[in-house]
Amino acid sequence: MKERRRILVSGIVQGVGFRPFVYTLATRVGLVGHVRNNSRGVAIEVEGEADVINSFLCALEREKPPHAVIEKIQGQVVPLSTNGQTMRHFSIQESQVLGIKDALIPADISICDECLEELIDPADRRYHYPFINCTNCGPRFTIINDVPYDRPFTTMAPFQMCPACQAEYDDPGSRRFHAQPNACPTCGPNLQWIVDGQECNTLMPLTEAQHQLAQGAIVAIKGIGGYHLACDATNEKAVQKLRRRKHRKEKPMAIMAADLTAVLAICNITEAEAKLLTGPERPIVLVKQRLKTAVSPAVVPQHHRVGIMLPYTPLHYLLFVNAPFSYLVMTSANQRNEPIVFEDAVVKTALSHLADAILSHNRAIFARCDDSVVEMVNKKLPRFIRRARGFAPRPLSVGFEFEKPVLAVGGHLKNSFCLGKGRRAFLSPHMGDLENMETLNAYQRGVTHFQQLFDCAPEVVAHDLHPDYLSTRYALEQSGVTTVAVQHHHAHIASVMAEFHLSQPVIGFAFDGTGFGSDGTIWGGEVFIADLKQFERMAHLEPVSLPGGHLAIQQPWRMTVSWLYHLYGSAWQSHCPQTWSKAYAAVLPFLPQLIDKQLNAPLTSSMGRLFDAVSALIGICDSTTYEGQAAVELMSQADLSIRERYAFDVRWPIIDPAPLFSQLLADLQKGESATAISSKFHNGVVELITAVCLELREQRKINQVVLSGGVFQNSLLLNRTIKQLEKHNFEPFFNQQVPPNDGGLALGQAAVAHAQLEAQRCV
Ligand code: ZN
Ligand code: ZN
Ligand code: FE
Repeated sequence: MKERRRILVSGIVQGVGFRPFVYTLATRVGLVGHVRNNSRGVAIEVEGEADVINSFLCALEREKPPHAVIEKIQGQVVPLSTNGQTMRHFSIQESQVLGIKDALIPADISICDECLEELIDPADRRYHYPFINCTNCGPRFTIINDVPYDRPFTTMAPFQMCPACQAEYDDPGSRRFHAQPNACPTCGPNLQWIVDGQECNTLMPLTEAQHQLAQGAIVAIKGIGGYHLACDATNEKAVQKLRRRKHRKEKPMAIMAADLTAVLAICNITEAEAKLLTGPERPIVLVKQRLKTAVSPAVVPQHHRVGIMLPYTPLHYLLFVNAPFSYLVMTSANQRNEPIVFEDAVVKTALSHLADAILSHNRAIFARCDDSVVEMVNKKLPRFIRRARGFAPRPLSVGFEFEKPVLAVGGHLKNSFCLGKGRRAFLSPHMGDLENMETLNAYQRGVTHFQQLFDCAPEVVAHDLHPDYLSTRYALEQSGVTTVAVQHHHAHIASVMAEFHLSQPVIGFAFDGTGFGSDGTIWGGEVFIADLKQFERMAHLEPVSLPGGHLAIQQPWRMTVSWLYHLYGSAWQSHCPQTWSKAYAAVLPFLPQLIDKQLNAPLTSSMGRLFDAVSALIGICDSTTYEGQAAVELMSQADLSIRERYAFDVRWPIIDPAPLFSQLLADLQKGESATAISSKFHNGVVELITAVCLELREQRKINQVVLSGGVFQNSLLLNRTIKQLEKHNFEPFFNQQVPPNDGGLALGQAAVAHAQLEAQRCV
């Protein structure tokens, strides 16, 4: 039986070579008709025998291009074409702009193997051309300003294709058929070499860059979503110079290695980590560094782990060809706390005091996007520390339907926002800390861009409870929308629930730095029974003072004093490290007064701050230069083979670390090593979580346990907790597709806002 069917394929089907794939497939099985992009996805009409059409549909799923993600295939039978317009062949037609925009924008994809082969083939017309790409690879999200994904809507619009490129673009048999960023040395973008703010008249910008890097210079390099600052990672002087210029004393910096062999020379990696490194998203992967390597110790001071990535653009590959270096430090080009620089108009001035020279090009970046950072949990499951390039704006599917479009504005630090629409959540790439005008402007621009790309005018805006977050203020400024305030730690727990489609109440541990509590104090060591709609605060860490407010976050020794004073009263000072009375003489003796009088010393139940206090007490880190440093260095000290632990005292709802401190101080007296103490502390927290879970399971018959919040970036703690919970037959869940830190907050906010509004409607 002959029939004609109209088919709509939705998902990530534009910019990934889907139309030529459909063309080839239809032609192969002998169907006639056409295919086109529209603003909802890919629309196909085919005519032929019904069973042929059915097998065509199966093959669509089975053989789809590597980067396509099919969410749905909808089909309907329509009348056969009348004699007048009988279709004789299959064709690709012009894109259509429909009223509804529902097409998904692909993320940026690293260079594919075929393009790489051409790149290094002297006979190829794109030999050593830094902008080679095809339908399977190249920039996407960062160059698109509207849908459907067609060249006029990208930053490739100013480049007119030459006849050779146009012929590939029009040839359904070519790998570059409708590859929007298609270009070649004749017609496409080219490199620029900028020194002292002036574009130099050189034919070989790349060779200049290699030469300068080899000499120890700092070169700013334009990537996919912004500029990096690069230097030779084995050159100690260059690395130190970069740190000085960026005012970045100790925070680890990422390395780009020439290839996998170079990675293996400095890191111990598992097969799964190698797969992550070489995958099309090419994130920075956190891995174990070998003890002595060629890389300067200044790249990751005080650490056993290093963030490493492989080249992902043709330009990156070319940087390493015949180069005297195999490792480049690649850190975002930005001022402290400002967003990554990406606009060519400002680059010369913005980077003049950071970089010795700039390797740039004239393909504009439309949307900024940092590198993603991923690590493996228990050697098998990848999870994000930062979600950006290669992944954003790929949507997450949630287990419910947003009845109204939602914008969740996220938190304050490591911000990311989220648009909820239908059954999807679109999480923005990492936006950075919303602490200044630059970041806030970038944030507002990002929100507008996302609303346009996904055709989403939010009717609901979810925000944090904290009244002073810039994101909260932004939310409350929006007019004509319903605003929903979501408690910080509830949002953390909900972010995991949304990821895993959990709808029944769970036992939730939200352990993080600080977040505004429902009672106006600062929370951060919270145990909830929660569903998406609401939570009960079952237990929390004993609140103590945060003497000096945010100063206590940068100076962990203040938290040590706070705990010692809380536990030992006037005897507190006898437990302090002796060096402190000299180092902090101006402030140390007065902290107890500050605490007593509650002068800038708000109460906090933060677990992150407890990690800080311990780290400082045992002499690992008493003053930080980046967020989370004290806890990270404490973790680096721990030894997995040590099984002993310290104890917490749980007097519901208070979790009291008094016994822990007395055991720890006794160990210090005995001269126990920092490694032993750190291990026993970590084991103690794992045991605490397990004990609390056992008790709550007894009371509430709940077996699902959710772990979220910045403290769970600590992979040692997370790995051990999961193993321990599994041993007791709990079902542990943790963030995998969004970060456990505040970068994942927006997903939770969106889910909670949805659940609360739905509950209101049902009343
Ligand atoms: Zn390619
Ligand atoms: Zn060309
Ligand atoms: Fe948080």
